Amino acid sequence: MASKLNISCGTCGYEDISKNAKKWCTICEEGFCGECEKYHKSMKVSRDHKMISTEDYRQIQNISVNFNCEIHGKKLDLYCKKHDIAVCVVCIPSEHKSCSSSDVISIDEASKNAKQSSALLDLEGTISATIDNVKHCIKNREIALTNVDQDEQTIRKTITDTRKNLNKYLDELERKLLLDLKSKHKNRKSQIMKILNQLKQMEQEVEKLKEQTLQMKRFASDLQVFLGTRQLNQSVSKQVESLKEFARVFRKAEWK
Ligand SMILES: [Zn+2]
Ligand SMILES: [Zn+2]
Ligand SMILES: [Zn+2]
Ligand SMILES: [Zn+2]
Repeated sequence: MASKLNISCGTCGYEDISKNAKKWCTICEEGFCGECEKYHKSMKVSRDHKMISTEDYRQIQNISVNFNCEIHGKKLDLYCKKHDIAVCVVCIPSEHKSCSSSDVISIDEASKNAKQSSALLDLEGTISATIDNVKHCIKNREIALTNVDQDEQTIRKTITDTRKNLNKYLDELERKLLLDLKSKHKNRKSQIMKILNQLKQMEQEVEKLKEQTLQMKRFASDLQVFLGTRQLNQSVSKQVESLKEFARVFRKAEWK
């Protein structure tokens, strides 16, 4: 930002008079009031000095241009073409000993038409290319910012959907298992009931055989007992075999 402070006339200031400057001499680097500017122009030594308005000076006063040599502190009065560098008088014998006299020219000559120079054109080109690059990078990161939001939403949705699908799968699995359990329970129960009935029937039959044996022993002849014992034994053996078969079925028919 250009300073809003008033620039005072240097010449009047030298006479302890405070007066605002209207113009700025770029060579003397001093402000001039209207009166003093006339004198400045009338003198041969300063007639060709480039004057600019104080408004224009405010635009450039914040531009940091160093007019002195950073090493020696002297004014940068010369320019070496070979090294493309502005130098002071002390620089020449030390750093530019081998540079020819035609390489080293006055800074005034070197800076003539600087506004049309390719160096300024290059600088402007580099600046505008840099601005383009920065803008491109900003655009790129703005797109990335949008993408990162979209990605987050997509992944969030995937997580939610996966959770829903898992719930659905587990519900379905539970339903199937319960259905299966119900049918197995029914089968198993009816199987046990069936065997239980058969066993009860067997119990009655064996009880009957016991009764028959008892009666035979009490009332039958020896021949009857002889034949009856063998026949009853066959019947009992059949029942024993059936019982063994049942025991085998019990072991086999667990929850399957
Ligand atoms: Zn003045
Ligand atoms: Zn001047
Ligand atoms: Zn120097
Ligand atoms: Zn040089």
